[in-house]
Amino acid sequence: MNDTPSLPPRRQNSFLYLIIIALVVSAGFLLWSKNDEVMTKISLNSVIQQVKEGKIETISVVKNRLEAIRTDGSKEFAYKEPSSDIYDLLDKGGVTKDQVAQLTIDVVPNDSSDFWLNLFMSTFPIILIVGVLAYMMRSAQSSNNQAMSFGKSKAKVYDKEKGKTTFEDVAGAVEAKQELVEIVDFLKNPGKYMEIGAKIPKGVLLVGNPGTGKTLLARAVAGEAGVPFFSISGSEFVEMFVGVGASRVRDLFKKAARNAPCIIFIDEIDAVGRHRGAGMGGGHDEREQTLNQILTEMDGFEKDTNVIVMAATNRPDILDPALLRPGRFDRRVIVDLPDLNDRIAILKVHGRNKPLDDKINLEKIGKHTPGFSGADLENLMNEAAILAARHNRKIIMMDDLEKSIEKVLLGPERKSRVLNDKEKKITAFHEVGHAIVGHLTEFCDPVQKISIVSRGMALGVTWFVPDEDKHLVARAKFMDEMASLLGGYCAEEVFFGDVTTGASNDLEKATGIARRMVTEYGMSDLGQVIYGEKNHEIFIGRDLGHTKNYSEAMAQKIDERINAYVDGAYKRAKDTIMKNKTIMESIAKELLEKETLSREDFLKHFPSPELEMKKEQKKDAEKKAM
Ligand code: ADP
Ligand code: MG
Ligand code: ZN
Repeated sequence: MNDTPSLPPRRQNSFLYLIIIALVVSAGFLLWSKNDEVMTKISLNSVIQQVKEGKIETISVVKNRLEAIRTDGSKEFAYKEPSSDIYDLLDKGGVTKDQVAQLTIDVVPNDSSDFWLNLFMSTFPIILIVGVLAYMMRSAQSSNNQAMSFGKSKAKVYDKEKGKTTFEDVAGAVEAKQELVEIVDFLKNPGKYMEIGAKIPKGVLLVGNPGTGKTLLARAVAGEAGVPFFSISGSEFVEMFVGVGASRVRDLFKKAARNAPCIIFIDEIDAVGRHRGAGMGGGHDEREQTLNQILTEMDGFEKDTNVIVMAATNRPDILDPALLRPGRFDRRVIVDLPDLNDRIAILKVHGRNKPLDDKINLEKIGKHTPGFSGADLENLMNEAAILAARHNRKIIMMDDLEKSIEKVLLGPERKSRVLNDKEKKITAFHEVGHAIVGHLTEFCDPVQKISIVSRGMALGVTWFVPDEDKHLVARAKFMDEMASLLGGYCAEEVFFGDVTTGASNDLEKATGIARRMVTEYGMSDLGQVIYGEKNHEIFIGRDLGHTKNYSEAMAQKIDERINAYVDGAYKRAKDTIMKNKTIMESIAKELLEKETLSREDFLKHFPSPELEMKKEQKKDAEKKAM
């Protein structure tokens, strides 16, 4: 019986019934056998003898059993042969006719206990079979029901009121929040935008590493706007049966349209939104159908249906371009890993309702947790609380937090990487190298932001933001860009005397530019011939194939030109860095401290920031005029 609690409730119930039945049956048997005990068994002779002596009042005959009630009320019984007649027996035993007349002879057709037993024996198997059948049918039916509801989306709805999440709960992520405030306004006051003829965006794609708060942000948008929030994970669309995903999508969008204004949130959209047609062994039909259905539904929304579809992914690079087209997920919100200030803010959010010791220094914890995501930091706070509780303390101490850092670092769930101090320093100088070379060349786009918070495979990033989409790029700009790309490599070389693998992607990009200049754009002394034909067919990877349509001799010449371009860029980059070592050191120092530098932070380090600003503005103006 000990194992019954572990059974699911329904099975437990039927077990209970079985046990009750067994108890009743055995109790019944016990009662019958008790009856037997009251009567004493005697021999047939003794019955006859007692009849002769007149000690017996009644004899009941039940088949081969004689039950005798004596004059004193006691009961006895004896067995006879089944075939023999009671009158014959008495007669042969020498009982006189008178004595027989005084007896009450009662012939009972059947024993009552026997009757019940027989009834039970004959019906029990039937009951059992019927019971088992009923049970089977019931479970078959419920799995049937399950099959019927397969096509229904399993989307979870979060109500507006209970457990409401707001932007307050999301610390840091300033840029992401700024973009999303707009979405909140769309949901709250759609009329305002409709009147002026603006189309409300339908899709917002949240891009960022795991645990950076994408789900949290989406929920906060719903909470801020006070609308229902339907959440489903991309992997839930993909099931064993073909067509289920598509019908789930249909159901989800129908539900959402009924509840408008609302938010549909598709987590891990890369599970269904992978680039179609790419992939070994043909596409995954089911996934493609699901994706097509999502696209169809998004296109099918009426202009005034106030439903916004948000989706999250950490692999935007593998998404199908069709998803990113206008009218679909045309808004992209990047959710970065938190930098120092963000980390401190997140620690504060998660320390809000925990008893923290006064001596706790969250800034220090923030400094020691580069590369931690929001989820990691939440985990850190929780581990600290557990540690405090284990030592029977009511307050979390600084020591608990410090010990928990290590625990979270070693934890199995951490996938993002954390730089050690040396790596961080190299990354900082590398990025400053890109920035300074880019800044000091004539045609590179202005430096927007420098960061050493690692993202995906890159350890750090320097953003150069162009003012507008440019389709025509001059040769001079390519040269400047190559120099800036090599700036990272050169900085490592100059400041550390060695280079790391961190520069490999930059070198690849620079070489790519040089190769395209020579073979595609006719920007070399080899003339205006296009070398090589691009193979646009999609197979396995995209445009992997290149058809070579030039001679070996030409290939050698092409390689020489590419080398010359890259080498020229390298020399320029190195020259710039050698001349600006002091500035670079001060920029790198600040970058190491803050982890991200804005454009203003960066320009501050130049001898005359105002002049630099003016120069930048002039550069911008010139570009616009071009
Ligand atoms: P993602 O969806 O990007 O993988 P989640 O939104 O699920 O990440 O974040 C996991 C948890 O980490 C959240 O529930 C939240 O508690 C915490 N978290 C992440 N980012 C933040 C942040 N910026 N501010 C506060 N908490 C955060
Ligand atoms: Mg998530
Ligand atoms: Zn680089």
